[in-house]
Amino acid sequence: MPRRKLVAANWKMNKRIADAAVFADGLRAHLPKLAHCDLVVFPPFFCVRPLADALSGTGVAVGAQDLFWESDGAFTGEVSAAMLRDAGASHALVGHSERRHVLGEGDDVVARKLHAALDAGLSPILCVGETLAERESGRQEATVERQLTTAFEGRGEMDAAATVIAYEPVWAIGTGRTATPDDAEAMHRWIRQWLADRFGADVAGGIRIQYGGSAKPGNAGELLARAEIDGLLVGGASLDPASFAAMAGAAPREAGGLSPG
Ligand code: PEP
Repeated sequence: MPRRKLVAANWKMNKRIADAAVFADGLRAHLPKLAHCDLVVFPPFFCVRPLADALSGTGVAVGAQDLFWESDGAFTGEVSAAMLRDAGASHALVGHSERRHVLGEGDDVVARKLHAALDAGLSPILCVGETLAERESGRQEATVERQLTTAFEGRGEMDAAATVIAYEPVWAIGTGRTATPDDAEAMHRWIRQWLADRFGADVAGGIRIQYGGSAKPGNAGELLARAEIDGLLVGGASLDPASFAAMAGAAPREAGGLSPG
């Protein structure tokens, strides 16, 4: 059974409450053509509830861009998985490169967030990827291996099966420089082998691995055509619903199959 493609919109720190309804209306018009893939939108925290309401009944999921690992307490400024579920989120991004490299989150923090999302029943998208310096010195696999090893420390097959991995080379995010389909697919194959070695081939075969990094309508088709690229995590080009829909629409129709974590 092929894995269903999962196309995700990461709004980052953009848009206001009124924009959520405008985006939802715009996207709704395209949904009849997008039944062959899964869609999830990650707005800023304060838009989770309005967007979840606006997309109610469409099958489009809403997620949070981050979360904290405790459920309640004296953690000023933080938002827990339980709160996000209460607000209508079903998914959470964990370890996005801007959290790692702009906000200084280390692998151990990312691991705690991944475990909190899994324990609370939020579907996590775990972002991994190397910097330009790491790629230029041939350390992309070592970097991703370290990120995956720490993230899944002490966790089992069911947790892996419930997680989506997003391979997002840091040098490609927001830069206009996209990994070639060959380079992206090579890393996806490497990640799937790591997952197979750690959790078994059956589990690894069901896990979706997205690509992220300057994906746009002009290159979505060639990326999504690759069997090892199970979807896209899209930043800038996801802010406009027509652009986001065009990218999801570029997913091959025959891939509409299994829809795991
Ligand atoms: C992202 O935010 O995960 C991302 C890939 O951004 P962009 O598409 O803008 O490179």
